[in-house]
Amino acid sequence: MCKLCDEGKPQDHDEGKPQDHDEGKPQDHTDSNADSPGGSRRDFLKASAALGAGAAGLNLFNAAAARDDDDDDRDHDHDDGPPRHSGRPGRRYVIRGGAVMSMDPQVGDFVKADVLVEGKKILDVKPNIHAGGAWEIDARGKIVMPGFVDTHHHQAWTAIRSSIPDSILIDDGTGTPGAQQNYLGNILLGFAPKYRPQDVYISELFGGLAQLDNGVTTVHDVSQIHHSPDHSDAAIKALFDTGRRAAFGYFESAGAAFGIPDNAGNQYPTDATRIKKRWFSSSNQLVHMIMGVEVYLPNYQLAWDIGRQLNLQLAAHILSPFGMRPILDSLADGTAGNGSLGLRPQDRHLFIHMTGMSDKGWNRVKEVGAHVSIAFPIEMNMRHGIPPIHKMQQLGIEPSLSTDVETNMTADFFTQMRSAMTMQRMVVNEEILASGGYTPPNQWPAPPAGTLPLLNVRDVLRYATINGAKHLGLDGKTGSLTPGKEADIIILDATHINVFPVNHVPGAVVQMMERSNVETVIVAGKVRKWKGRLLDVNLRRLRRELENSRDFIFSKAGVPQDLFR
Ligand SMILES: [Zn+2]
Repeated sequence: MCKLCDEGKPQDHDEGKPQDHDEGKPQDHTDSNADSPGGSRRDFLKASAALGAGAAGLNLFNAAAARDDDDDDRDHDHDDGPPRHSGRPGRRYVIRGGAVMSMDPQVGDFVKADVLVEGKKILDVKPNIHAGGAWEIDARGKIVMPGFVDTHHHQAWTAIRSSIPDSILIDDGTGTPGAQQNYLGNILLGFAPKYRPQDVYISELFGGLAQLDNGVTTVHDVSQIHHSPDHSDAAIKALFDTGRRAAFGYFESAGAAFGIPDNAGNQYPTDATRIKKRWFSSSNQLVHMIMGVEVYLPNYQLAWDIGRQLNLQLAAHILSPFGMRPILDSLADGTAGNGSLGLRPQDRHLFIHMTGMSDKGWNRVKEVGAHVSIAFPIEMNMRHGIPPIHKMQQLGIEPSLSTDVETNMTADFFTQMRSAMTMQRMVVNEEILASGGYTPPNQWPAPPAGTLPLLNVRDVLRYATINGAKHLGLDGKTGSLTPGKEADIIILDATHINVFPVNHVPGAVVQMMERSNVETVIVAGKVRKWKGRLLDVNLRRLRRELENSRDFIFSKAGVPQDLFR
């Protein structure tokens, strides 16, 4: 509870302002850990700090689940507070009077409407809902829409954010900044193998909270940090503790394929069975599991077999280097792995990037209904190849969006949507201009027959929401404001100086907005960001943990911290 609030002196729970809170205790003003099978965030950080690297092998997560933050007295029912106990069974509130963009064609869009939420779920979306005495959130001047879904992010790299901003994927021998900073050498073979479980935890948590702040209510976290079962448990625990919807992508131990000695405790992929049993026996929780089945690893057949046995969705990076184009061809032919591995329609696949693939590979991907996640800005920057949006349009299939790596670029979703639309239109527009020869009388030619349509703001909003939900098998729960789905909702402030006045709702979101417009964020009915501030976090403490972790990782990797290198 907050003493000052209870005494009638409403406190702005900003980390920069004086509070009566103990600095050492993150104040969970709502119980963000309700869905976690293991103890609280505080338990993990305390245990990690006390035990250091020795935490490996101890069962940290069965520590007391009891929380002193689970206190029903903390009402915050002053005027500008969030609805009380949001997300709990039976608790109702109505989001009143916003411009509602449901992303569900059956529900439609409304210039002004209400969204009624009870417990975790959306009960109704329409104008003038009679909600009895339900708590009201005033959404006048705001845009109400589903939260964004990121189908490929590497949250473990949060501590090493922005460390290689000019890099390409692999050293090309040029000695240029792009080559020197290359991702493979510096991240996968450099920093990543140095991570301890507590480094994994704090990066995963901080990165997740940062995206929650950005309106991304669901993520597929592609964790390549499984140097031991304790590393895996730390990643999963952080996803639960973040309190947003997530797919835990059980990928490899970074560097394992290259014989990095720090990875001696690596048990990927066989530990998948234990992980699934321990953390994912229920489907009624915010986090579920996806099996990473990278085809550039030796003996990748084993991961495919385990993923299929455990009935998990299968996900892999598929891109130009590491001989993956012929491997995808052999998967299309059914001759991959030990000789008879192939893509099957009964499996659920998510392929990331798909840059540089053959028509044979693409046709089979379409045939089996595999999903494709495109990381537009990263692919353009890091030499993955041209984002394959035009190929997908030709095939009549649609992508979801990937933020990929914050070692290079922000995981902001407005950047994703704008980059997707801009890149696709750049190519098509240039093709049209070129068809006229750039000279009068044909300097502004009509698009030749067969020209692909330009992407529009509605297309990229679909990619960013419902497509992401479909691609993670979560469209029964999220991705649109549909009665019966869980309430993953963002309220965007359209009165801000950067966007006012709004003359086109989807256009304002895609082309004008950024993080500062994300006013309120709701996950499964529970308010996690309120009037521009994240709830449930002590950022001052988390920043310190993250900095300490960053210092450790840099020092272990022997990389000097040079802020202007
Ligand atoms: Zn990736």
